[in-house]
Amino acid sequence: MSLSYAILGAGLMGRMMAYTLAQSGARVTVFERSGPDAEQSAARVAASMLAPLAESAITEPSVVRMGLYGLDRWKGLIEQLNREVKQQTFFAQNGTLVLWHRLDTAQAQRFAEHLERNVRMNPALSSPWHLDDKALAELEPSVADRFHQGLFLPREGQLDNRQLLTALLQALEQLDVVLHWHTACEPNDLEGQGFDWVIDCRGLGARSSWSNTHNPLRGVRGEVIRVHAPEVKLQRPTRLIHPRYPIYIAPKENDLYVIGATEIESEDLSPVSVRSSMELLSAAYSVHSGFAEARILESATQCRPTLKNNLPEICVPRAGLMQINGLYRHGYLIAPAMMDTAQQLLLGQVSPLAQRFDIQVHHHDFRNSFASCA
Ligand SMILES: Cc1cc2nc3c(=O)[nH]c(=O)nc-3n(C[C@H](O)[C@H](O)[C@H](O)COP(=O)(O)OP(=O)(O)OC[C@H]3O[C@@H](n4cnc5c(N)ncnc54)[C@H](O)[C@@H]3O)c2cc1C
Repeated sequence: MSLSYAILGAGLMGRMMAYTLAQSGARVTVFERSGPDAEQSAARVAASMLAPLAESAITEPSVVRMGLYGLDRWKGLIEQLNREVKQQTFFAQNGTLVLWHRLDTAQAQRFAEHLERNVRMNPALSSPWHLDDKALAELEPSVADRFHQGLFLPREGQLDNRQLLTALLQALEQLDVVLHWHTACEPNDLEGQGFDWVIDCRGLGARSSWSNTHNPLRGVRGEVIRVHAPEVKLQRPTRLIHPRYPIYIAPKENDLYVIGATEIESEDLSPVSVRSSMELLSAAYSVHSGFAEARILESATQCRPTLKNNLPEICVPRAGLMQINGLYRHGYLIAPAMMDTAQQLLLGQVSPLAQRFDIQVHHHDFRNSFASCA
């Protein structure tokens, strides 16, 4: 008889875990407090850039290693999903362009030096290219009238998060996963219901489960604006060095651009502020004048689920319960590494991938309460 799993939360991690477990032949049931569009998840709002080198400026080497693994793994996963379901998911690996205005030159230099140091520490990262006027005009002609230098981060990628969430949903339906929408659950609610494992992927919704641990969970507010901008022809995610937070413009298919994102230490989920809207939109307009006539389709706020140390963690606080959380601002980048590590742990409690990525894994020990095993 195959094992039976309950997945709490159908955002990014929940859908990925449900998919991989159902594919391996397990019986899977999903409980999600919102609907099939994942309207209360960080996954729906994210820009879903896959940028290990850019992120290396603000995160630990372990996350960067997970990101490099994730980039390769996404390519295969999306090809597979595209074959399996009717919904195609956009995935591109055209690199990232980094731009800056003259006043921010010193900050841009520090950023470049930081990345170069990180490449020396991890040669699997591709070195950033310094672009002069001519090289920039060849790479991204549509910004060449406003910028005369830039930095190019090769190999970096992105995907369309909403297409991916829909494709994963279709795959779950095809795999006969039982889906309970508008059903908020706690792990304790499912005790005695015949599940071999409960996998808690509730993102920030799991805050109370982490509140009395060494590593409490918090939300980090992010605001994004989605625009339709047919006059803008950017071919890759473009980051603008900015004194307050890095602003990016992520081009998706059909002239859709995601402009984001603020990063505010707050769990306030209220709508995007006027100040953030002005900063995001004026930054986009300063990169490309075609944004002037763009149409605002949506502005959205969500909180990134973040542990105290800003690193992801997998926890088995008691037999039959696994918690996966803390994906913070790079959930898409690291989700494949987290998923494969969790899969290994479910099979045998030891994970070479957890060791490779220094993923914090806390295991229930049947004699003591917690014992770290990775
Ligand atoms: C503005 C913004 C921009 C981002 N940009 C990027 C990016 O460019 N690249 C990148 O790699 N990452 C990005 N991220 C990060 C990424 O979106 C998150 O790390 C990721 O979505 C976290 O996945 P998760 O499954 O843990 O949580 P979520 O995606 O939030 O999913 C959690 C799910 O659990 C459900 N839930 C909560 N409580 C309950 C309950 N009691 N019962 C049942 N269901 C429940 C929620 O409704 C939700 O659907 C961004 C995030 C934000 C907010």
